[in-house]
Amino acid sequence: MSIITGKTKLLGIIGYPVEHSLSPVMQNAEIERLGVDYIYIPFPVKPENLQTALNGFATIGVMGFNATIPHKQAIIPLLSDVTTTAKLVGAVNTVWRTETGWKGTNTDVIGFVTPLKALNRDWNTIKPIILGNGGAARAVVVGLAELGCRHICVVGRDKDKLGKFKQSWDISELQASITVHSWDELSGLVSESELIVNTTPIGMFPHTENSPVDSDLWEKFSNNAIAYDLIYNPSPTQFLKDAQQQGLTIIDGLDMLVYQGAAALEIWLQQPVSADVMSEALKQVLFS
Ligand code: NAP
Repeated sequence: MSIITGKTKLLGIIGYPVEHSLSPVMQNAEIERLGVDYIYIPFPVKPENLQTALNGFATIGVMGFNATIPHKQAIIPLLSDVTTTAKLVGAVNTVWRTETGWKGTNTDVIGFVTPLKALNRDWNTIKPIILGNGGAARAVVVGLAELGCRHICVVGRDKDKLGKFKQSWDISELQASITVHSWDELSGLVSESELIVNTTPIGMFPHTENSPVDSDLWEKFSNNAIAYDLIYNPSPTQFLKDAQQQGLTIIDGLDMLVYQGAAALEIWLQQPVSADVMSEALKQVLFS
């Protein structure tokens, strides 16, 4: 690692807990390659200390930071400006210093859509299915709407939460409509859909044999369909293995993780960064 001096600029991530975050690994790998005088540090910040932490960051000259659980929503009223994308998601994961205070955005959206954009599909004809209706599903909804999908189906297990999820969107601002469905309805949705996105933790390490989708459901998808799992460990998940066996195109969660981090670093450094270097650094930690 490069030598830290009095001139080294500070970046980091706030969360609680934050010690398992992979962001320092990928951010510092690319900072090192670029040869810029920055360092990215994990900061454990308890929920009740968020305002104090922001004041402290301003005092010591932190240039920018990521926010993770439990701060992604709570930080919004403490910022002087928030991008339209982050307002729509209702969560901020990237913050940077401006002349008028801290500004926040949500780079999970660009992280999610980047691998899809590379597939070059006619998005406004595609009716995606999202499995799960938690925090990550919100970034996925905004990403799919930004891609041009006009109608999005969201599948969840809790009727009340699903109802609140649907109600939480300003459809004219989102420019896409949302319907919510129980898991029983999933088999009826798949033949009409060319994209299914898993935003539940089902299949995550160490429960790697689990999948949110019954294996016999895959044959109902068209061959053009895409299966996207936000989970990055294992890679591929059982969900993606089953989809691939049926001939679907698959995308795992590693690219989303990398591209959201790359987008944040580009905001802080104001220069292009290499997602490949960040991806390699992550793979070394996760899989070797
Ligand atoms: P979250 O807010 O807790 O949401 C999880 C959703 O999954 C909720 O709707 C939850 O339903 C549902 N769920 C959980 N267990 C379930 C089960 N056994 N059966 C059916 N539904 C279930 O979590 P999140 O922040 O959205 O994260 C979700 C996943 O995405 C995690 O695996 C996370 O690692 C991954 N993720 C990846 C990236 C990336 O960059 N690749 C970014 C963000 C998140 P209830 O609300 O009813 O509990």
